[in-house]
Amino acid sequence: MNEHLSALSLHEQIKSGKLSAVDTLQAAYNRIDAVDGQVGAFNALSRDLALQMAEDVDRKAKAGEPLPLLAGVPLAVKDNINVKGYATTCSSKILDGYVSPYDATVTLKVKAHMLPIVGKTNLDEFAMGSSTENSALKITRNPWDLDRVPGGSSGGSAAAVASGQTLISLGSDTGGSVRQPAALCGLVGLKPTYGLVSRYGLVAFASSLDQISPFARNVKDTAALLQVIGGYDNRDSTSLNYNLPDYLGNIDKPVEKLKIGIIGELNGEGMQPEVAASFQQAIETFKKLGTEVHTFSIPSIKYAVASYYILATAEASSNLARFDGVRYGLRVEGENIYDTYCKTRAQGFGPEVKRRIMLGTFSLSSGYYDAYYGKAQKIRKLLKNEFDKAWQQVDVLICPTSPTTAFKIGEKKDDPVSMYLSDIATIPVNLVGIPAISIPCGFDNQKLPIGLQIMGPHLSEEKLFRISQAFETATGLANLSPAELATA
Ligand code: GLN
Repeated sequence: MNEHLSALSLHEQIKSGKLSAVDTLQAAYNRIDAVDGQVGAFNALSRDLALQMAEDVDRKAKAGEPLPLLAGVPLAVKDNINVKGYATTCSSKILDGYVSPYDATVTLKVKAHMLPIVGKTNLDEFAMGSSTENSALKITRNPWDLDRVPGGSSGGSAAAVASGQTLISLGSDTGGSVRQPAALCGLVGLKPTYGLVSRYGLVAFASSLDQISPFARNVKDTAALLQVIGGYDNRDSTSLNYNLPDYLGNIDKPVEKLKIGIIGELNGEGMQPEVAASFQQAIETFKKLGTEVHTFSIPSIKYAVASYYILATAEASSNLARFDGVRYGLRVEGENIYDTYCKTRAQGFGPEVKRRIMLGTFSLSSGYYDAYYGKAQKIRKLLKNEFDKAWQQVDVLICPTSPTTAFKIGEKKDDPVSMYLSDIATIPVNLVGIPAISIPCGFDNQKLPIGLQIMGPHLSEEKLFRISQAFETATGLANLSPAELATA
């Protein structure tokens, strides 16, 4: 695949017959064969499925039939999203042998738009983590520095795009799992408004926070992929009945007169100095673009991570109860059914998943419910009120996406709290259900990418894309590629 193309221009070339979708797909697989041995982005490939789709695209293009948006562009999908007839592992041993009997709604949409699905990507087990080191299957490495993590939990989907194996991919974001790896891998990642993208067929981690989310190498490709996957779905009871705007239609409109708020609590303290410096530079860029910049306080942000780890683990403890050795995947026979449940779960789940099930079960148990779960819900409400107040004064809020650039593999593995703090800037967004995008804003001294997060009110995706596009054009930070990986 030509790494320097955008997904939209690749699609145009396929549409006009300049490129064949089958050749494009072959180029993607060639790249995967050459570099994924080092990067480790994919858990499994789906060559037959992808090839059939690419052939259909070429047939249509030849016949001069209209092709839907992004048709022919190879796509990588996080391995917690169901693709019918293929394994969904969630990078857990407990799903060993499980084959998806149905397609997720996003998978159906992607198929309707004729994107060849090239394979399923690695993640932290059940999307619990910030480095992809919690995968029970393999290590994924950051293409910018193979000794470092790609971020997580959607690290496989991020690494696939950052290493030029595909131009776009899907991840899921519960507390930052698309925006944080986007930041660490020099990509664009957008967490949509809660309910904008159907969760049907996404393996649930924390249902009130989860959203399937796109990755790309530039803002327009991200907008195009959201256009493909978004929209109402009656199979998801939390789906928003909302007509998607044409995200690409207004994306180049100017951003003057916009008011931008800096979150005081996330400006500087605890940040790697280069991240803080790059953020200051981003503020200058916004000023040059003619936007007004204010500083704003969201005082409850300091409780967001604590509140998230009560709520997300509580929901996870309930959602993961279904993996019992009877219904899905792994079954370790015991002496009786209870013993079978225990043995299956003891062997099937990894340490981080067990830690979270225990935490969540504890905070939901009688006697502790009010002290923990109830309090965390109150913080969620406070945060929502504080963000609502902000929207009366500013159009969007900005902060660095992650306090640091990509860290070394193993560096935080044994320190869950320091790992949890990687998501300090991304978690509040999921708690209040608003959209947020991470876009590249610079590099640290080791040439590792830095991400900027832009947050907006519910359903402000169109505005987020427009502002991000203006920033991307002003800085030229798009379609970033690490130095060439040695090819196998
Ligand atoms: N890193 C956060 C966690 O471990 C967020 C994960 C996610 O967004 N899926 O819970």
